[in-house]
Amino acid sequence: MLFDTHVHLNADQFNDDLEEVLERAKQQGVQNMVVVGFDRPTIKKAIELAEKYPHLYASVGWHPVDAIDMTDEDLHWIEELSSHPKVVAIGEMGLDYYWDKSPKETQKEVFRKQIQLARRVKLPIIIHNREATQDIVDILKEENAAEVGGIMHCYSGSLEVAKECIDMNFYISFGGPVTFKNAKKPKEVAKELPLDKLLIETDCPFLAPHPHRGKRNEPSFVSLIAKEIAELKGITYEEVVLKTYDNARQLFNIK
Ligand SMILES: [Zn+2]
Repeated sequence: MLFDTHVHLNADQFNDDLEEVLERAKQQGVQNMVVVGFDRPTIKKAIELAEKYPHLYASVGWHPVDAIDMTDEDLHWIEELSSHPKVVAIGEMGLDYYWDKSPKETQKEVFRKQIQLARRVKLPIIIHNREATQDIVDILKEENAAEVGGIMHCYSGSLEVAKECIDMNFYISFGGPVTFKNAKKPKEVAKELPLDKLLIETDCPFLAPHPHRGKRNEPSFVSLIAKEIAELKGITYEEVVLKTYDNARQLFNIK
């Protein structure tokens, strides 16, 4: 029973063969997934997929790269959707200093507004961080994100920051990069952190794990991430699968 906590099956890359992708995931033991929406079209599609398939859930939020496009109506819409029975989290949200489409100040404002929203509706948040670690940690603290907690999605930072996030009620989620041969830091962090604070994800169609690196990613590959974590920690694959599955159900409050 695997739980892929971060998929973009709402992306155009899955338009032609979604049924086959879902079937392969099932064959591999992927029981549940959270489809993450991050702008108008992907939020709409995430909800549609969660309504159509019983084992899919949705997260709704606004991506920092597009922060400049978010209107008050969008924020209001996200808040309305938060009461949908299949919506289990708010995000992805955060800061992305790699791309410069949206100014930093706009990104921060949109990030803060979404944390405040999540606290109003009492849902966990999914954090996207690219080259903005210190500002993310500061804002999570200032906005008291610990009250709802959430996920540090596709984590690639240090062990120290991971521990700081865990203290703020966050889970650390590993994706494809932890399987890359040269990924020393994520491997070390995955090895050191307690299993009851870890989650697994593909972030498909992006960041396919080894040996599929560079190709389209899909939820069935999440098993490769669980295998890697089991090897790093010197425990069984089953143990990683069961514990990360429980962690996800608990965080998303899925009975
Ligand atoms: Zn994502």
